[in-house]
Amino acid sequence: MKARIVTLPGDGVGPEVTAAAVAVLKTVAARYEHVFAFEEQLIGGIAIDATGEPLPAASLAACRSADAVLLGAVGGPKWSDPNAPVRPEQGLLALRAALGVYANLRPLQVHPALANLSPLKNEKLKNIDVLFVRELTGGAYFGAKTRSADVATDECRYTVAEIERVVRRAFELARGRRRHVTSVDKANVLETSRLWRSTVQRIAAEYPDVKLEHQLVDSMAMLLLTQPNRYDVVVTENLFGDILTDEAAALAGSLGLLPSASLGDGKAGLYEPIHGSAPDIAGQGVANPVGAILSAALLLRHSLGLETEAVAIESAVEQVLRHGPHSRDIGGHAGTGEVRDAVLAAIEDHA
Ligand code: ATP
Ligand code: MG
Repeated sequence: MKARIVTLPGDGVGPEVTAAAVAVLKTVAARYEHVFAFEEQLIGGIAIDATGEPLPAASLAACRSADAVLLGAVGGPKWSDPNAPVRPEQGLLALRAALGVYANLRPLQVHPALANLSPLKNEKLKNIDVLFVRELTGGAYFGAKTRSADVATDECRYTVAEIERVVRRAFELARGRRRHVTSVDKANVLETSRLWRSTVQRIAAEYPDVKLEHQLVDSMAMLLLTQPNRYDVVVTENLFGDILTDEAAALAGSLGLLPSASLGDGKAGLYEPIHGSAPDIAGQGVANPVGAILSAALLLRHSLGLETEAVAIESAVEQVLRHGPHSRDIGGHAGTGEVRDAVLAAIEDHA
């Protein structure tokens, strides 16, 4: 197949890990006879330096017409003055809103070879395989905000339509997995959560083959640490999802390992590792490229429908995590390029 992929390497380690993911996609294209055209565009601090804007019009236009967008990371100390007129992170928020990517998917698995890095020990780490689906374009992040000298408010607002579309996506994804959805809310206190829960219950009736469970967010924060292997698909609103997915990421051992996909109903999905620009190690060639490489696998699966190819990348990563080489964040000495090359070799070997 032919596909157009826009890359937004961004700041810090973003360009290093994005280059590794692109190398992997090129190898997949050659091995499976696809034609991927890559177009690099600016976002974040590097875009502010070049154009004055964190998301230049040319970047947005390219993303809108692409089949998929692969992003590195944005931000860094150079642009972190809170009083600056524009900040790199605004480019990313604007891009998510413009692409209408309301469902943020974060798969979490804990590799047995890395179990010693996780704060959880023993049998609790076995068989963790959770897919978080976080609502990404509503709630307190986007509601009306007010601020005066002695009072501030953030409106948390959800419409039924906004809840329905992300919850439906979660149930659809559960059908391809273990058919278990856990919906997380705070329905004992919040009106938005009561609307969330009743909407989830109504949608669930369309999926009688999927088991539904509700959890309150405070209780879920605890259950993720005490019984993480009980969960399959976890769906929740924007703020709860932000917090729970960072908590979950800690279980994997390193931020550098985890991918994400942000999907809407439109054409282009947005794919990025969950880590930030890691300014402390930028430019040293030591960043772990696995989160970005697994994001490329999600791109193949969710935007291009190439499941076999996605699995080929995931198996290759699995093999490298099992046998090495390992980057510094997971206790090894390998650089970004060595890890990339090991993944490329494993893809070539994959029957
Ligand atoms: P942001 O504010 O952009 O979300 P952050 O404050 O969450 O960023 P990161 O930039 O993700 O932080 O970095 C947190 C720590 O994790 C840093 O010490 C960084 O070096 C490390 N880290 C992040 N990504 C990687 C990676 N790919 N490989 C190795 N270490 C990483
Ligand atoms: Mg962060």
